[in-house]
Amino acid sequence: MLIKDLLKSKEGLLIDIEGPLVSRIEGGTIYSDAISLFEEFSDMRIALITNISRRSSKYVSRALNKVGLNFDSELIINPTKAAVGQVLDKEFNKPVRVFLISEGGHYEDLTQFDWIEIGREKPIDAILLGANRDITYQELNFAFRCMFEGSLLIVLGGDLWTYGSQYDDSGLFLMEGSFAKALELATGKEARYVGKPYKEIFLEGISVLGLPKDKIIMIGDSIKTDIVGAYKAGIDAILIDREGNKESDLIEQIEADSEVCLSKIYYARKLSPDAELKRIS
Ligand SMILES: [Mg+2]
Repeated sequence: MLIKDLLKSKEGLLIDIEGPLVSRIEGGTIYSDAISLFEEFSDMRIALITNISRRSSKYVSRALNKVGLNFDSELIINPTKAAVGQVLDKEFNKPVRVFLISEGGHYEDLTQFDWIEIGREKPIDAILLGANRDITYQELNFAFRCMFEGSLLIVLGGDLWTYGSQYDDSGLFLMEGSFAKALELATGKEARYVGKPYKEIFLEGISVLGLPKDKIIMIGDSIKTDIVGAYKAGIDAILIDREGNKESDLIEQIEADSEVCLSKIYYARKLSPDAELKRIS
């Protein structure tokens, strides 16, 4: 089967950004096969689903625009939007008061919602913990005290560490997932993770597309986040593996998860309409 044959049976696409569309969001290049796919399937509903939330959806939209992909920021779903749409909107009384730990991108996404108050005094309904490489003891300790008093810790992302750059300094950086683990350990309370592979971000993507799950396909390059997340959310998925070395890992993962994986999972080396698809489950 070819990618275009499968896509003809669907009405909506959820696509990961880094990997399937561009090599990197900051200073990366676009893959030409992604453009050919969008040209052929311009009538499909498409939303982009990414764990990048350190940068706002508007920033990501502008960065994609520069390389020739036009996506409105409303079609870019990140962990901040998943937290708002699937947790704060559904589980809290409005207005919702949050304590935000962030480098700024999350803040830009949150200011669109006038029922969210960002505060540094109690009462705090929820702590939103995003990437922040200027994090202070005061911020962590305030979050710790709020958790003890019942505030929910929502983790926007969850990487323990990453390779990155800040202030001309490139290298490994400790990320929000590590601070979340410390807070969970200290308080004995569980945090809520909302990025891929957790269900919240997929439910937010499905709600933005406004389509039934069986009419949607997820396309991503990470087994751990995109594919596992998609089948846990009950949608079919295609793993894009440009290097051609993930197929056996994908089969192994799906065999290990066979009770959870009720979706159809496919494997492809490219994203073009004429690329060959292999059904894995
Ligand atoms: Mg990716």
